[in-house]
Amino acid sequence: MTKLREECGIFGIFDTEEASVLTTLGLHSLQHRGQEGAGIVTYDGKKFYNIRKKGLVGDNFNNSEILSLLPGRNAIGHVRYSTTGESKSENLQPLFANLSVGGFACAHNGNLTNTHSLKKDLVSKGAIFQTSSDTELILQLVARSRQKKLINKLIDALNKIKGAYSLVILTNKKLIGVKDPFGIRPLVLGSLNGSYVLASETCALDIIGAKYVRDIENGEIISIEKNHIQSFKPFKKLNERPCIFERIYFASPDSIIDGKTVYTYRKKLGEQLAIENKIDADVVVPIPDSGVSAAIGFSQKSNISFELGIIRSHYVGRTFIEPTQNIRQLGVKLKHSVNRSCIKNKRVILIDDSIVRGTTANKIVKMVYEAGAKEVHLGITCPPIKYPDFYGIDTPKHKELMASNYTLEEMTKIVGASSLFFLSLKGTYIAMGYKKRNNSNPQFSDHCFTGDYPINVEEIQNFKNELFD
Ligand code: AMP
Repeated sequence: MTKLREECGIFGIFDTEEASVLTTLGLHSLQHRGQEGAGIVTYDGKKFYNIRKKGLVGDNFNNSEILSLLPGRNAIGHVRYSTTGESKSENLQPLFANLSVGGFACAHNGNLTNTHSLKKDLVSKGAIFQTSSDTELILQLVARSRQKKLINKLIDALNKIKGAYSLVILTNKKLIGVKDPFGIRPLVLGSLNGSYVLASETCALDIIGAKYVRDIENGEIISIEKNHIQSFKPFKKLNERPCIFERIYFASPDSIIDGKTVYTYRKKLGEQLAIENKIDADVVVPIPDSGVSAAIGFSQKSNISFELGIIRSHYVGRTFIEPTQNIRQLGVKLKHSVNRSCIKNKRVILIDDSIVRGTTANKIVKMVYEAGAKEVHLGITCPPIKYPDFYGIDTPKHKELMASNYTLEEMTKIVGASSLFFLSLKGTYIAMGYKKRNNSNPQFSDHCFTGDYPINVEEIQNFKNELFD
């Protein structure tokens, strides 16, 4: 069975009243980044408190006892994305350990790529791992560093790990934020009445009324203490390679990345798709929710009217959450229904952000035909996903990625559409505000389309899950 590891959301807040309640709100706004489970660690000046639960933030943390269960002015939290099969409670984060320098809680968004060799080495030296999460490696490495100061222990550990990581860390003195040298996963700094906040996305700042200060830079460590904030850049400076999928699919439409809302990028992706593909049709219909912003762009650019021809139930999580292909298919059916009035006897252009396995496209095209559409064209606002991800999204292996196994013609037949068209790579960069993909402008982590992996993935490809599950 395919193992999908996690895309996650992280949040931290320092020196404020009701830190656990604010963290609950922050995590709630990051819920789209992970629905398998959530956790919060707080520190009240004497003790650390830790609650980690499977399920949604609102179901587990939104209650009147949360302040007494999680007291203190400092807190970090994590929402975890589904790992198929292995959804063990011990893997829920933040992870916590009592180190020689005091308590150390850590929440991680991303995936390490050299876990196999590091873990093998540590186990051979007597380390005992309590979880199958790669994040535990960070705690083990910090614990074993011979440096005296916590920050130097952390730098020591980070120098050993490779991969994608945005971290929030809570100790008895500090809140620390870290972004890996390529800055693959996001992390922003905000402020609320003089207190500092760290979050995966700006939507988590908005929900608590915090102001956006700036993005944490690639390769930067931010250390927040009472009345004191420090920045460390201990790594060799590299060009930033942020994950392009944050803009295409993952991030919330209202979050701001690089000065623009994610909605703006998605709308542009839709516009660009319309520029590249002139289709004669009657209606443009998004596959909700992720296709909505792009479909608005497509409709406006093509002058074909926008209709909500597919209705999405808000009581079912993201498709990928279910662990088996059978259940995933059921999930898609539970999630979407057809609004016949917009579809019957129409030539329909469906818009979605991506095709991974093809499950969603397959189901929806069929549903739309069954509702009486004359033609069903399917437009995808990114290039074909031909290569797996190992940096925190972790899309399936080659053999399960539809575009990795079939030609465009074959894919069109399999999904049963009148036509299937993808946005070009160049068009994707144009929608992001760049003329084309080249080395002189910020290049994204776009390996899913290009196979150009910024960090070597050989080890994770060969030994994935061997030591961890
Ligand atoms: P699939 O149905 O397997 O082709 O997956 C594509 C659908 O899942 C699209 O509707 C996307 O919005 C959504 N999607 C794309 N990438 C991911 C991902 N990494 N995790 C969860 N859902 C995704």
